Amino acid sequence: VRDQLGRDPTTPFTVVVRCTGGHPLVIRNAPLDAAGDPFPTTYWLTCPDVVRAVSRVEADGWIARLNDRYAADAAFARDVERAHETYAVDRARDLAAARGWGGVGGTRRGLKCLHAHLAYHLAGGDDPVGAWVAERVLPVHDDLPGRIAAIDQGTNSCRLLVLEPSSDVVDPTELSRDMRITRLGEGVDATGRLDDAALARTIDVLATYCRRARALGVERIRVGATSAVRDAANRDEFADAVRRHAGSELEVITGEAEAALSFLGGTRGLPADDAPFLVFDIGGGSTEFVVGDAPARAGAAVSTRMGSVRLTERLVADDPPSEVDLRALEVGIGRVLDDAFAAVPASEARTVVGVAGTATTMQAIALGLTRYDPERIHRTWLSLRDAERIFAELARMTNPERAAIPVMVPGRGDVIVAGAAILVAVLRRVAAERLLVSETDILDGLAWEMLEA
Ligand SMILES: [Zn+2]
Repeated sequence: VRDQLGRDPTTPFTVVVRCTGGHPLVIRNAPLDAAGDPFPTTYWLTCPDVVRAVSRVEADGWIARLNDRYAADAAFARDVERAHETYAVDRARDLAAARGWGGVGGTRRGLKCLHAHLAYHLAGGDDPVGAWVAERVLPVHDDLPGRIAAIDQGTNSCRLLVLEPSSDVVDPTELSRDMRITRLGEGVDATGRLDDAALARTIDVLATYCRRARALGVERIRVGATSAVRDAANRDEFADAVRRHAGSELEVITGEAEAALSFLGGTRGLPADDAPFLVFDIGGGSTEFVVGDAPARAGAAVSTRMGSVRLTERLVADDPPSEVDLRALEVGIGRVLDDAFAAVPASEARTVVGVAGTATTMQAIALGLTRYDPERIHRTWLSLRDAERIFAELARMTNPERAAIPVMVPGRGDVIVAGAAILVAVLRRVAAERLLVSETDILDGLAWEMLEA
């Protein structure tokens, strides 16, 4: 990004989408710059080729013409206002006060900067101006055909992966990877139903992901849903939303299929000599264990109804968790592991691989990262000793204290103690001194299957 901008970025950011070739296309800036001053431009176009293409449209006088249309066409003006509104809401996710800093690129009325509108459109914003600019300028590069998107709807999080196949398929280009905590599984364990507010939050994120995928030229969007949706009586409400936004049928993934996909995502490309592998995936509502003799080839698998959200709701009464809570977790997890490891030969594994948020977040803490950086975490080792130490530290903190850890994703802090308890119990049970932490998991499995099909 520094090379693209020709200067150091002034604000902390994450890369939202990339171009063919993998260089950043849109970044998402934090609401405050490094000096602590308001930074209202949340989505920023960085690819110099795309920036130039948009500058040509601006130089042709289109800002004035579009503002004329804004003044004359009430329906268009309403759509632009709505884009400003949703943009401000998006920015305020990180800082409530940032809600009032104007809309797209900080604009209060009409439109000022077509780059900002295109950036918002590419990020998945519902922005008629951005969509219009995209029609005029994209594609700027020679995009490869066959782009696909996979969405993994878990109990706690909703995640997106957009891939562009390369000529050899082995190493596809990652165009977008994203994760938002929507807590779709909130209360499912108690009521058997998806909660209305949780559904609304989740569908909002789903719609954004689908718009982003389409803006990137994706034709096929696959949506897989695991535990929470699997167990819910009203899962058709979510399936309807998937049909509407993704244009495909929701795939309710069985525990077994989930295990195989996690194994594919967690082991693809690992050295065959490190087999057998045990992959475990701690989710919000379930934990899967899979053993396999070769990378990407799952063998025995078991899916348990033990997850970080479910255990927290059932067993953790106090904040921080009391001795009684921690003891209840240990006993409850121990019982589930007795059954699970009777079904899969977990102790035979030479390499234990941990996928998903609990493992990656604990490793981010172990590595002392000051911001979450998947590339620093992917396929690094977390020792049992570090895992035990971090579990103990997390268990002593209150929810607000855990939420304030810089690498903690909003919505994870209050369930990670239960997740960490599972992780430590698994390593102890299979007598593993260390865990290979993987950023690739069921989501990658879903996407890779699409490319290989
Ligand atoms: Zn580019």
